[in-house]
Amino acid sequence: MQCPFLRETQVQSCRHALVRKLIVRNPESLASARCSSEAHVECPLYAESPQEFGDPDRCPYLDEPLVQFCAAAPVQKFIPFSEAVLSRCGSAAFRYCDLYITMAHPEEADVPHVDGIPVPPWLDYAANHMWLDASDDGVFHIGIDAFLARALGPVDRIVYLTTRGVCHPAVVLSAGAADYHMIFPNRVLIHAPNTYLRANPAKLTADPYRSGWLFECRPAPESADARTGLHRGGAAATRWMQSEFDRMGAFVHTYAETTSNGEDVLMADGGAFAPDLLRYLNREQAARLYHAFFSPASTR
Ligand code: SF4
Repeated sequence: MQCPFLRETQVQSCRHALVRKLIVRNPESLASARCSSEAHVECPLYAESPQEFGDPDRCPYLDEPLVQFCAAAPVQKFIPFSEAVLSRCGSAAFRYCDLYITMAHPEEADVPHVDGIPVPPWLDYAANHMWLDASDDGVFHIGIDAFLARALGPVDRIVYLTTRGVCHPAVVLSAGAADYHMIFPNRVLIHAPNTYLRANPAKLTADPYRSGWLFECRPAPESADARTGLHRGGAAATRWMQSEFDRMGAFVHTYAETTSNGEDVLMADGGAFAPDLLRYLNREQAARLYHAFFSPASTR
């Protein structure tokens, strides 16, 4: 699987030039171009150190590598094929590229919802409301789900506690005066955190399943399957989300009379818990809610 904006072409460059400039190869003008004709002997650069080559019709310093480039980028940057294997453009990871998301506006049709909370069926969900996208080509992404995003509201700061290596991915999310420690329950090999979120943390909860991803990972060698113990995406995950939604309703009803300002602001119209719920709770209530739904000890 690769990004629809990824393109391939052949470029030309001079190995003898001080500054290497890549020019897209145009088959129609090859015969008249100096580098790819016998006229290369007139080139002053070639004349500095002429070399014999099997084909007299092209300069021995002419390089013609295959490259890839992003057709969505405002400035084209050519990447040799040998390095392209390592880039996210040639794997399922392209779905988390900001440029792809901005240009393609991928719409997820038929995503089930639980009272406005989307539950994408291609994700697996941890009991503490983190998700895992394990693609077939071995690239994993991890984030928080829309249930936690609704309860948190806008996040002010993100601190990555783990950035590389085999571990349980962990972050601290700060919302208002409180910090929430989120730990993915299974070990994975972290390849890169989404450091862009540190400058723009609001994306974490505004777009939790796309540009709000937290970690890009690979399977951890000699560790259990990263999906062990998770709620598998699809009907089972939607039922689980419904049960979590109902459990949250019961929790909020228990505490609705004791908000810090004495008002019942915890339930929005229609019986759903209010967006930014955690901000309305006092310290003790927020700690209880975090422990019941989002702590590493969550097992439901
Ligand atoms: S940079 Fe992004 S949009 Fe461009 S080809 Fe790569 S994944 Fe696709």
